[in-house]
Amino acid sequence: MAATLRHTDVPGDGWDDLRRRMVDDLRRKGIRDPRVLEAFAQVPRERFVPSDHRGLAYVDGPLPIGLGQTISQPYMVAAMTEALALEGGERVLEIGTGSGYQAAILSRLAREVVTIERHAPLSGHAAQVLRELECHNVTCLVGDGTLGAGSGPYDAIVVTAGAPLAPLPLLAQLNAGGRLVIPVGDRGIQTLERYRRAGDEFLRERLMDCMFVPLIGEHGWKS
Ligand code: SAM
Repeated sequence: MAATLRHTDVPGDGWDDLRRRMVDDLRRKGIRDPRVLEAFAQVPRERFVPSDHRGLAYVDGPLPIGLGQTISQPYMVAAMTEALALEGGERVLEIGTGSGYQAAILSRLAREVVTIERHAPLSGHAAQVLRELECHNVTCLVGDGTLGAGSGPYDAIVVTAGAPLAPLPLLAQLNAGGRLVIPVGDRGIQTLERYRRAGDEFLRERLMDCMFVPLIGEHGWKS
């Protein structure tokens, strides 16, 4: 008798095989940085997905993580990470910890990662998974990341929620040469932008269209 596939089942060859296929898919979609692809090959995304959606962990799409929030699409996480151009020695700030998956990817590509989330239960759960996976260079904070976080400056900042404008406190926390990658637009659809600090100037590039949950905070959307 044929078994019914539930969201929690692992189809076919198991997680490692699904992860390898996801990395091939990211490469096909244009992700080139070998360090980024290797990080995606190492981090078990299934550990960051709630159990009722675990069977979909390697589908290239966002998934719900509770409190109306999502773990982002793998391709978008990869594109944002690649845009940060990390070489290994950086201090990185992430705004919007969510599940903790992007922080785990960043932990393999940078010296130190600080990540901040406005929902304490999401932060607590992410911190536990990151501890279990021995991501010892990640610090999880709770608060409004639009105000900046931890003790800057940072070499790279990634915002994983959609903002009306790049928050000035985040631009101020960038080191010389530092990069800020952030979705900017309206509450529904945004453009992924990259800012590079050159002295007191910020060079802006538009990278691609994207759709993120809103960045809620003093320098973001009002809730
Ligand atoms: N990076 C996450 C991951 O890997 O799972 C995905 C993040 S989800 C798309 C966006 C997150 O940003 C949500 O968890 C949301 O609560 C958080 N968020 C929104 N506004 C925030 C703010 N001002 N400060 C910190 N976190 C915020």
